[in-house]
Amino acid sequence: MPDYREMWKSLKMDIEKHDQLCEILPRFYEDIYLSQENRPEAMNYYNFVVSEVHGLRIQELEEHRSKGGKVIGSFCVFVPDEIIDSGGAIGVGLCGGSEFWEPDGERVLPRNTCPLVKASIGAKISSTCPYFQSCDLIVGETTCDGKKKSWEILRDYIPVHVMDLPQMKREKDNISWQDEIKIFMERLETMTGNRVTTEKLSESIKLMNRKRKTLMRLYNTRKSHRLPISGKDALLISQIAFYDNTERFIEKTNELCDELEKRIEDSISVFEDDTPRILVSGTPMAIPNWKLHHIIETSGGAVVCEETCTGTRYFENLVDEGGKTLDEQIKALADRYLNINCACFTPNMGRTEDIVRLYREYNAHGVVYFTLPFCQTYATEFKKVKDVLDREGIPVIMIETGYSLQDTGQIKTRLEAFFEMLDTDKGRAASK
Ligand code: SF4
Ligand code: SF4
Repeated sequence: MPDYREMWKSLKMDIEKHDQLCEILPRFYEDIYLSQENRPEAMNYYNFVVSEVHGLRIQELEEHRSKGGKVIGSFCVFVPDEIIDSGGAIGVGLCGGSEFWEPDGERVLPRNTCPLVKASIGAKISSTCPYFQSCDLIVGETTCDGKKKSWEILRDYIPVHVMDLPQMKREKDNISWQDEIKIFMERLETMTGNRVTTEKLSESIKLMNRKRKTLMRLYNTRKSHRLPISGKDALLISQIAFYDNTERFIEKTNELCDELEKRIEDSISVFEDDTPRILVSGTPMAIPNWKLHHIIETSGGAVVCEETCTGTRYFENLVDEGGKTLDEQIKALADRYLNINCACFTPNMGRTEDIVRLYREYNAHGVVYFTLPFCQTYATEFKKVKDVLDREGIPVIMIETGYSLQDTGQIKTRLEAFFEMLDTDKGRAASK
């Protein structure tokens, strides 16, 4: 990687502390990713993106800013990318996926806060995340309590705009979410000096839909009986989708899909035929949280799909492209986004229906329900999900784990026992 120290200094980063992070990540990536056998050739692009994660992409963001452009950071798949893009800004999903940032988060947050929130706040207050340092505005949302209260703390460090997400899905909630989208759009317009027009928004809606279709194409390859790509690699691609240049991401991911579809034709798989196929469902896995996928795929399982916000919740359902006025387009955005079944909603049976549907579509043998510690919404929702899965005869295990690797052995033992009892002959005929 070229020397980006001057750029990092100009972003007021804590260089010494950042060096510590830069030392850990490459080794971690090598152990988890580069050690895999028979990876698709096209994964080289994503290897490159990871190797330049704090370099080239940041340089691109800084070039945009040097011409007066703005960078907007967000933490949730409810923040509409289409509005950011049509306002001429660049959106980046901010990651809070590393244990490295938790102690800094704990300086200002209670210890019993979910690791994702602690790490996100810690990344900012430690000045070690160049994405955070490049952001002109952070967009938060009122999803869970941990996040909601953290925005008040984050405001001391960076401008924050909070979108008030309704927690039910009635008509009045849809109207209220349309209002929130408009308020955000107006703030963005004031900040960037650019007007969001029907034409620009229409282009952005089409662009983001293309990105969703590309991710859908990638996920479709994972429905195959012979898996052309590991779950770990698919997760990495989803994580990169949150911050890479959108056009380039679409192009490179379509190239990868060409290769994966060819692999399926040629019966090339990265796993043995009788490997238990696992649907992971639950809280998002922000980069570089690869822990659970790595444990599953080194304990005899293969992850075939993620019902998470770093999985299907990010790209399923397109925005209707037919809106002729800004109001119609904003309504179309509200309709699409309120289709996301986050556990912050009540009731939220749509998510359980999604889990059952995805289990069948991806020919899974079992479900691993994942929650981060202190995530009340996802942990509480497990009861409702399990009741339905039990009724449907779908095996499920709940794993609650944070970013620390200390419990790896214990999780491995539980998963190995779970995989043992799965009927891996089930559905084979249907999936061939
Ligand atoms: S789990 Fe809910 S709060 Fe978290 S990113 Fe997804 S939609 Fe947002
Ligand atoms: S994992 Fe749960 S507690 Fe953590 S930010 Fe997401 S919804 Fe909130």
